[in-house]
Amino acid sequence: MAYPDPLETLIAAFEGFPGVGRVTAERLAFHILREPRARLLAPAIVSAAEQTCRCSECGNITELDPCPICRDPARDSQQIAVVSEPRHVEAMERAQVFRGRYHVLMGSFNPAEGTEIEHLEIAALIERVKAGATLEVILATDPDAEGEATALFVVQALESACDPTPLITRLARGLPAGSALEYLHRGILEDALEGRRPIHSRRSVQGRVAED
Ligand SMILES: [Zn+2]
Repeated sequence: MAYPDPLETLIAAFEGFPGVGRVTAERLAFHILREPRARLLAPAIVSAAEQTCRCSECGNITELDPCPICRDPARDSQQIAVVSEPRHVEAMERAQVFRGRYHVLMGSFNPAEGTEIEHLEIAALIERVKAGATLEVILATDPDAEGEATALFVVQALESACDPTPLITRLARGLPAGSALEYLHRGILEDALEGRRPIHSRRSVQGRVAED
C-alpha cells in the first residue's frame, strides 16, 4: 500500500527520530493530519532551529553564544560537570546543586540507537580542559549502562590527551539504577554530587572527595 507522496515524506521524517519506527511514524503523521493544532509543529520546528545554536564553550543549546551559564562570571570555571543532554543541565540548574560550568556531550554512547563515541562532543571537552583552568571534571552522565560506558570513554580520552590530567570524578553510586538524571529530586542530586569519587580508566579509587 502506498500513501500519497507528501504523507510518505512526513512519515519518513518521523522515522529518523530516535526510537521511532514505521508504525509510530505513521501514527504521528496521521495525528498531524487529523489535529489542526498539531500543525503548529511546523513553525515551531523552524523557529527552534533558526533561533538557537550550540554554545561554543559548553555545547549547550542557547539563544545567545556563549550561553548565560558560560557568560556568568560568578560560576566556578575550575569545575566542569559533563552531562549527556541539555535537559540534564536544566535538571541540575533547577536543583541548584552546582555552581561550576557544564559540558554537554549531546548524547550517550548507544550503538543500538546509532550513537557512537565519535558522535559525542569529547574532543571539544579535551580542548577546553587543555586551554583553561579546569581543576576537576565531574562526570554527571546517567547512572545507566549507556551513561557508565560514556563516562568511561571520557575518562580514557582525558587521561590520554591531557597532561596533567585534571581530577576526574563520577557522581556517587546510590543513584537509583537505570534512572535518568532529570527525574532525580534535589536531595538525591546533592548527595550524588557531594559523594562523588575520583575515577580512573584502569582502576576505581575509593575515597571521598573533599567537599568544596
Ligand atoms: Zn555555554
